[in-house]
Amino acid sequence: MGFRFRNINSMCRTYITRVSSQSNNYYHPIIQCQSLNFQFQNHPSSVCSNQHYLKIPIRWHLGHSHDHHQQLSGKDAENIFRLGLASDVGLAAGKALTGYLSGSTAIIADAAHSISDVVLSSIALWSYKAAKAPKDKEHPYGHGKFETLGALGISSMLLATAGGIAWHALDLLLDLLSASPEVVGQSSANEHVHSHHHGIDMQHPTLALTVTILSISVKEGLYWITKRAGEREGSGLMKANAWHHRADAVSSVVALIGVGGSILGVKFLDPLAGLVVSGMILKAGLETGYQSVLELVDAAIPAENLMPIRETILKVEGVKGCHRLRGRRAGSSLYLDVHIVVDPFSSVSAAHGVGENVRHQIHKSHPEVSEVFIHIDPAYFQFSPSTMDQLGLEGCKEHSSNICVDDLDIDAVVYNTLSTKFPEKMGVERITHHLLHGKILLEVEVSMSPDTSIRDAMKVAEEAEKEIMKAAPNVFQVSVKLRLGRPIPEYQLQ
Ligand SMILES: [Zn+2]
Ligand SMILES: [Zn+2]
Ligand SMILES: [Zn+2]
Repeated sequence: MGFRFRNINSMCRTYITRVSSQSNNYYHPIIQCQSLNFQFQNHPSSVCSNQHYLKIPIRWHLGHSHDHHQQLSGKDAENIFRLGLASDVGLAAGKALTGYLSGSTAIIADAAHSISDVVLSSIALWSYKAAKAPKDKEHPYGHGKFETLGALGISSMLLATAGGIAWHALDLLLDLLSASPEVVGQSSANEHVHSHHHGIDMQHPTLALTVTILSISVKEGLYWITKRAGEREGSGLMKANAWHHRADAVSSVVALIGVGGSILGVKFLDPLAGLVVSGMILKAGLETGYQSVLELVDAAIPAENLMPIRETILKVEGVKGCHRLRGRRAGSSLYLDVHIVVDPFSSVSAAHGVGENVRHQIHKSHPEVSEVFIHIDPAYFQFSPSTMDQLGLEGCKEHSSNICVDDLDIDAVVYNTLSTKFPEKMGVERITHHLLHGKILLEVEVSMSPDTSIRDAMKVAEEAEKEIMKAAPNVFQVSVKLRLGRPIPEYQLQ
């Protein structure tokens, strides 16, 4: 009795249809495996299948990154920047108009300051919008760092403002300590470009006070709104921008205190308040600036922030462990990469499925994460203790470098051994290689004549395993399996 075994591959015509969808960049090749004929030539009754028609969509990846996530609060956050910008425009226009109508040069000077605020708020809004732009060819990792850059810019401005106020306050203080009252009056006219020391026009006290108090209320309100949003979003740019609003508010308060002080005759109040406020702004500027620099140099995310993410990963079914979890920030988005450990004998598609679940769960539970790169590791602890002893794995490194074995050679050895030693008894259907700790484990799927008894089949399998081990000494373990049911088709992507 002669058997002819045919490789399914050769009979399976594979068609790949590239379907490019508009919603993403992945190709979805559809494999149509037609006419999967597999049969024992002499046993027409055992025909497995004549017409298999399979459609398996496969996702191809760009750097294995799946971008399912969109910041939900992105539009709200942008609106906060717009609100800040609109307020600055309103304040600038209102001050310019009031100054023009009343003829108060101090209010007009204040309007000039508000115009510089408009510029800064525009920069903040622009960098936020730039950061939210989807990734493109030039910026494959997205534009998140634009936000960081904007935050650094505003932080530098805060530092300059703090310096300006301090300089002005010290100037006043030195003058007060050394000179006559006339000089004090003169020095307050030395306004710096963005010194935030708003002069108050004493010729129009009611109008000047109204404008100043209105400006303080608006700016302090903006500080709180922007700060809250910044903390919710984890955006350094927003926090820095919030502090810019507050810097404007508190410097106006200093101006008020200065006026109050001069009315009460306590001239030291103005420079002292100026120094306190300068210290506040300096601290905020240093903090936001330091955070931006950390972000720009890809500093590590604090371990306590990664703990909840690790817990999420470990809860996913099929995940046996995870390590090398690390993250970096780009504006309000978080980029993660992690190694997950899965069953070493699971198929590539199953392991990939576990990885996809991990990604999905992370995005669901941690919306601040915009991308996760997942590396799949086979679990090693599934060897029984006796096997571990045999392998001598104690000192073995996790990622062995010598796992690159010539797979084709082993396949040829197995085919040759079985066809020469057991020509009448079995035919090789499929060889599955497992590489664990640099050792090769083989699963050899064979088919046998239906007349073979199970006892005989087991005996032949045992002999075959021994022969393969003899012929291929680099193979650590062989398991011969009998194919009984319908085969899983093998695919060849063309
Ligand atoms: Zn994937
Ligand atoms: Zn300002
Ligand atoms: Zn690993």
